[in-house]
Amino acid sequence: MSSGNGIIAETREKIQTELDTLLAVLEDVQGVIPEGAYLRGMNALGSLHRHKQTALTAIRPGAILRCWKTLEEIEEDDEDIYDEIMEVADDIVVELCGQDSSIYSDERYNLVHRGNEQETFQALMDYKPREGNAGYETSPMVLHHAIQVIMERLFNDTYHELEIVRPVSCQCGWRGAQGNWDRHIRNMRHQRWVDAESEKRQSENAAREAIFQSELARARELVSELFTKSRRENGMIYFKQEDVKDSRAFKQAMEDFISAWTQISGERVIFVSEQGELSWFT
Ligand SMILES: [Zn+2]
Repeated sequence: MSSGNGIIAETREKIQTELDTLLAVLEDVQGVIPEGAYLRGMNALGSLHRHKQTALTAIRPGAILRCWKTLEEIEEDDEDIYDEIMEVADDIVVELCGQDSSIYSDERYNLVHRGNEQETFQALMDYKPREGNAGYETSPMVLHHAIQVIMERLFNDTYHELEIVRPVSCQCGWRGAQGNWDRHIRNMRHQRWVDAESEKRQSENAAREAIFQSELARARELVSELFTKSRRENGMIYFKQEDVKDSRAFKQAMEDFISAWTQISGERVIFVSEQGELSWFT
């Protein structure tokens, strides 16, 4: 932008120098030429001065920037410019990375050889149009986006490289690079660990289930005893809330018993709290 301002200031100065020269010439010949001619010359100089002001004030860097579009906007509504950007990007890639390189090459393929990244990034940062190079014939906007497209690709390559070597660890105790993960999970040692783990889980589950079943059997006896001792009146069984134990086995035994009992006998079960409040079994 400073160079844009520089050109405007420079042009203003140069035009002013020429205007000053013409003015000096008119002054020199004032006595020699007819007065009408002298006045027309002076008027013309005055107009040129005004036109210069108008024109140079209108040309501001901002006027050009207002036409600037993002790559996304261009991709959406200007296929020609988009193609030009990709073409310039491809030419620059060839220029910087060699004849066999292309911005269109497969994403698994690294554009820049390992170790050359820094140099290539710097070359892109410093890239400017020079006669004969890929960016010379194109507009600043196209060149800017072309370089951005390459930068993005290089960044993704680098990111991908880093992902491959990122250290990871497995619960089986293995530590290695992310890139070897797929191979690791097919490894025999890992497979044996997976099998051992699932066996361990199965036997833990079986042990838990066996414990629950024995708790359930004991709870069924308790519930059945409580029911035999409960008060019964007019098709109702009154059951003390305080006798309900807070365990999964007991609650299940209770529910099973009540639903079986009410089906057989048709009696309703009512819970009585310590304060004497009644509630239905639901
Ligand atoms: Zn493992």
